[in-house]
Amino acid sequence: MRKFNKYLYSILIVVGMLVPGLAQAYELEYNHNIPGNLTGYATPNYVVGHESGNGNNVGPNSLENEVNYMTRYPNYLNANVTHWVGSGGRVIQIQVPGKVSWGAGANANWQSYAQVELARTNDYNTFQKDYASYVELLRDLAGKGGIPKALDEGGRGIKTHRWISWNLGGTDHTDPYGYLNSWGVSEAKFKSDIKNGISGVTPKPNPVPTNPTVKPDGSAAIPSKGDTVNFTGTKDIYGTNLWVSNPYQVKEISGNRAVLTKNGGIFAAVNVKDLKVVSSTKPTTPKPTTPNSSGTYSGFTKETAKFTVTVNEGVQARVNGYGLNAKKGGVLQRNQAINYDGWAARDGYIWVHYKGYSGDDLFIPVRPINQNAWGTFK
Ligand SMILES: [Zn+2]
Repeated sequence: MRKFNKYLYSILIVVGMLVPGLAQAYELEYNHNIPGNLTGYATPNYVVGHESGNGNNVGPNSLENEVNYMTRYPNYLNANVTHWVGSGGRVIQIQVPGKVSWGAGANANWQSYAQVELARTNDYNTFQKDYASYVELLRDLAGKGGIPKALDEGGRGIKTHRWISWNLGGTDHTDPYGYLNSWGVSEAKFKSDIKNGISGVTPKPNPVPTNPTVKPDGSAAIPSKGDTVNFTGTKDIYGTNLWVSNPYQVKEISGNRAVLTKNGGIFAAVNVKDLKVVSSTKPTTPKPTTPNSSGTYSGFTKETAKFTVTVNEGVQARVNGYGLNAKKGGVLQRNQAINYDGWAARDGYIWVHYKGYSGDDLFIPVRPINQNAWGTFK
């Protein structure tokens, strides 16, 4: 049976990779170091979500490190949870769900069916897998405990450590919101993912820079992946001082956070506002000929070029207004081209304007501000 189960899991994982947006399946791993008779059974009112808060443990083995530490005698006598998630969506059970664990203070522990810790990472892809498993596990545990899949609402349900601190007391931690936020997961998204699961949730565009400064060539003055940058702050997003000298290269950008590399290794995760671009690898739109002149849509910088869509999923056009809230028109398919007459930045994207056959003002996003274009310019 065990072999069969493994086979089943691998099918689930493969399907999960092929169908974007489908919840990723995790395989439960076990660590039996904590004695089973350590505590009695809990009143199953809550499942508690935590994150480690450990900014010194963010590498590829962060999950193993946390589990090894927390399950070692006598460490588990001070604090323990039932599950750990990390290192690319792995899940390790260290105590039987249903039994009392000690992670959220005296007022919540006896009422907690399970408590889940999330190990940190400095890698965006790893985080995405971790987050999917974290949400899925919290939901699964709530299901098993007969607990509502509602996050931080009144009564029984899935709770963050912060909710416990603010509503039950006996503890003062506010995790996991800060860490989730640092990767662009808002409270609202976390809430909705707990309610609905990860599948069926459309990935949101990266958080919009409040005041994107756009260079004359159409590329943002905020850094892009591959850029060489100087770090102008002092601490990384975990509050640790950076001591390696400038410059760095940008390995990954997600919302307000950038992962910096030095000589090819992952070095640090920092806030984008603390970066100054030294040299950029890609202005991805051509130079505008006469900035801010007429002959294009109001507020747009004039520039005429042909844009050909190259992404398989096509690009959603907007009618008589631009931005993510503007009315949707058709979808420009791959290899379709338009001749545009100007561009502007809004909602995290560079938009271009063109006229439809019926005289409508049409707009398409040609790329997210920090990222590659969804087509070619000629
Ligand atoms: Zn916590």
